[in-house]
Amino acid sequence: MIRMRGRTDKGRRWQQEVDLELAVTLVREHAAVVVNPYTIRRLYTNKAFRNYILTRDNHTCFFCGEYGDTIDHLLPKAKGGHTTPVNCVCACNLCNQSKADQDLEDFIEGRAR
Ligand SMILES: [Zn+2]
Repeated sequence: MIRMRGRTDKGRRWQQEVDLELAVTLVREHAAVVVNPYTIRRLYTNKAFRNYILTRDNHTCFFCGEYGDTIDHLLPKAKGGHTTPVNCVCACNLCNQSKADQDLEDFIEGRAR
């Protein structure tokens, strides 16, 4: 296991154990940096991460192109998706709710029907 450190939105320190695979994914996707061989540091607080994704995507819903201010996981957390820049996109409320825990393919197929 790898130790991951970070800060809450209010500046409090936290740490938790994550498995190696998640640690590698977070670093590869620039959500965390390596501190030492046993420790990584999460780069964004939840709020900062949210702002980062919304700004990157210009507050434009990934699915319908309308204004969006929520974050959606392309591969849902329930299916093993992680909160990383690559797996997260800006979504409008409607798309976020209708997508829920479906993965991307199911969601697009559902809309095409
Ligand atoms: Zn939308």
